[in-house]
Amino acid sequence: MAARRDATLNLASLLRRAPGSVDDADADGELSPIDELLDANGLRLGAPLSWSLHVSNTGGEDDFVVSGDVSGTALLECRRCLTDVPTQVDSSFIYPMVYRPGGADELEMIEDDEQDELLVFSQPEVDFAAFLTQVFAIDLPLTVLCKEDCRGLSVDGVDLNEYPDHVPGDQHDERRSPFDALKDIDL
Ligand SMILES: [Zn+2]
Repeated sequence: MAARRDATLNLASLLRRAPGSVDDADADGELSPIDELLDANGLRLGAPLSWSLHVSNTGGEDDFVVSGDVSGTALLECRRCLTDVPTQVDSSFIYPMVYRPGGADELEMIEDDEQDELLVFSQPEVDFAAFLTQVFAIDLPLTVLCKEDCRGLSVDGVDLNEYPDHVPGDQHDERRSPFDALKDIDL
């Protein structure tokens, strides 16, 4: 399956209270979010995101629930040595969603009166790309390590995993203080 820039689901069949209307809609796919979306979420990806969505009518005219999951591999910097660490993240979610025709074109996240998060859509065609990218980004770990015992960088920026014996400044013998010699004198 080719990765797409959007994650659009047509909910028209859920909206009509007519013969043939259904209670559920499902979709899944692969998403390569546009750069603006990645930047807005401070996200770098190693591969497209995999997602699935399930939208169901909760019985009311315009009330729905959307659930699903989004997973993928983000590139995060090791907090000690700053190399990229591919980090697998699997997020699942469930949100109430309402249909409000005449509103914004894009799917919006708002807070209802009880300050619960609520998704609002105003067109039958809903692009979930921004929402899925955001859900994924929220579940990223705050920090990662490339390995448990990463030695990190020296104060002068050398990767101590590669050069474990590096001592900052030891390649600049001519800059050693003349007082260093005093350390060797046993007072
Ligand atoms: Zn590291």
